[in-house]
Amino acid sequence: MAWDESGKIWFNGEMVNWKEAKIHALSHVVHYGSSVFEGIRCYTNKNGSAVFRLEEHVERLFDSGRIYRMDIPFTKEEMCEAVLDTIKTNKLKECYIRPVVFRGYGELGVNPLKSPLEVVIAVWEWGSYLGQEALELGVDVGVSTWRRMAPDTLPNMAKAGANYMNSQLVKMEALENGYEEGIMLDYQGMVSEGSGENIFIVKDDVIYTPSMSSSLLKGITRDSIIQLAIKMGLEVREEQIPREMLYMANEIFFTGTAAEVTPVRSVDRITIGSGKRGPITEKLQKSFFEILEGKVKDDFGWLTYL
Ligand code: PMP
Repeated sequence: MAWDESGKIWFNGEMVNWKEAKIHALSHVVHYGSSVFEGIRCYTNKNGSAVFRLEEHVERLFDSGRIYRMDIPFTKEEMCEAVLDTIKTNKLKECYIRPVVFRGYGELGVNPLKSPLEVVIAVWEWGSYLGQEALELGVDVGVSTWRRMAPDTLPNMAKAGANYMNSQLVKMEALENGYEEGIMLDYQGMVSEGSGENIFIVKDDVIYTPSMSSSLLKGITRDSIIQLAIKMGLEVREEQIPREMLYMANEIFFTGTAAEVTPVRSVDRITIGSGKRGPITEKLQKSFFEILEGKVKDDFGWLTYL
């Protein structure tokens, strides 16, 4: 991760200097985790720089806001434009994009409605999340002792700051145990997702991924991989997945804006398949990157060029 502190950050509609993009210590979000956000990527290829699935990310930001009664004071079109402007202003060709909407400095009580909403967009250069090597060789992961939130506790489909307290417990435990990432089970004990990634399992040429009922974030990379797999004629099943399917799998991979398509080579020190990236994972990963790299036509309309 490379932050350029001489850059600009979009703050409630204005470009401000990186170091001046500050909030008060008594802002509601600092105390109660009241924020919703997005993680988006901009890729560069021979046709120029393009943001991946910008509209879908902005749509999800607004959905997250709706759940928490946050009436974002910009339109979706304005937010899309603001993302593109922020990248151009910072003269970046390839970057990670972080829009965040949060409850600011107003009154400090659990009731969030007395604090003003603030909207920020920051961009920075970022390579692969779990490491370049991970994309090829895969990562070692463990099933976490922490579960994903039950559906009547915190809404998993909102990409809310507070949800990442749960993710942080999972990530820290995984690293302590010598794993790169942790897999959470849902409140029923079924496979849910990683701390910041969705999960796919390949068994006997069928691709499985947990369904919406397994307490997960509906990932935009997840959706892209499902579409690519269907286009390739592969069978994709969204359903509840028991834990033991992880150990029985021929292949496992994670998807996410940060993780892209990352193979999993072991779970709880049990080797998955041949212990390296499997053939279906490789095929899907390749066709995913070919679109981003402009090597094949963007038939899905996933790229918004700057
Ligand atoms: N699950 C969680 C908990 C995440 O944080 C992310 C990253 N946003 C994902 C799944 C993957 O979602 P996407 O593909 O939209 O980045």
